[in-house]
Amino acid sequence: MKPASHHITTCRRCGAPIVWCLTSANGRRQPVNAAPDETGNVAVSSGADGVLYVRTITAARPDIKAGEWRAKPHHATCPSPPPPRRSSGGQRATSGVRPVPWQR
Ligand SMILES: [Zn+2]
Repeated sequence: MKPASHHITTCRRCGAPIVWCLTSANGRRQPVNAAPDETGNVAVSSGADGVLYVRTITAARPDIKAGEWRAKPHHATCPSPPPPRRSSGGQRATSGVRPVPWQR
């Protein structure tokens, strides 16, 4: 299995092909490399609603089920991870503002 072409987009930071998935754990959006990767640590599946879901492959659930494929979270390979929060309006004090952590 691999993502349908209409799911594939490109990383804003490095231009690599990625797919946006929702984590099955908490429904957060997570970028995953579009290319399946046998060494990846997550399993992606296409939901009945047409949305891609991603789950972490754990010791408790190591099996790749039918309809799932193994992939790598994009942040594992992105050469340009998100910088600290950047405001759109030029210089702005950022003290006390914690950037949103990049999801692992
Ligand atoms: Zn990237």
